[in-house]
Amino acid sequence: MSDYPSCYLCTHFHERPGSCHGFCDLLYDPKEALPVFEILGMLGGRSGLAPAVTKEPPSDMKVEVTHWPGCGNFPNFYDGNILRSCNKFEGKGGR
Ligand code: SF4
Repeated sequence: MSDYPSCYLCTHFHERPGSCHGFCDLLYDPKEALPVFEILGMLGGRSGLAPAVTKEPPSDMKVEVTHWPGCGNFPNFYDGNILRSCNKFEGKGGR
């Protein structure tokens, strides 16, 4: 078992159809995103660009993620296991 929490267990994480990656609804809304963010997210690479945030995060939100090859792009199209810490984690089903 991982020493870190996982976005996969958080109610704010939404998986992408056909992919194990997903997005955090506190930081990203696909309906508000520029199409280029959606396309680049699907392609799995946008290094050097700012995170594709479409929402103003809660002012007290503190989130830390890591990355590895193939982990996608946080917060719009990413592997939920890259999470290291987040003070807005809310477990699915009250976990
Ligand atoms: S743990 Fe934090 S970053 Fe991950 S989906 Fe939940 S609110 Fe978003």
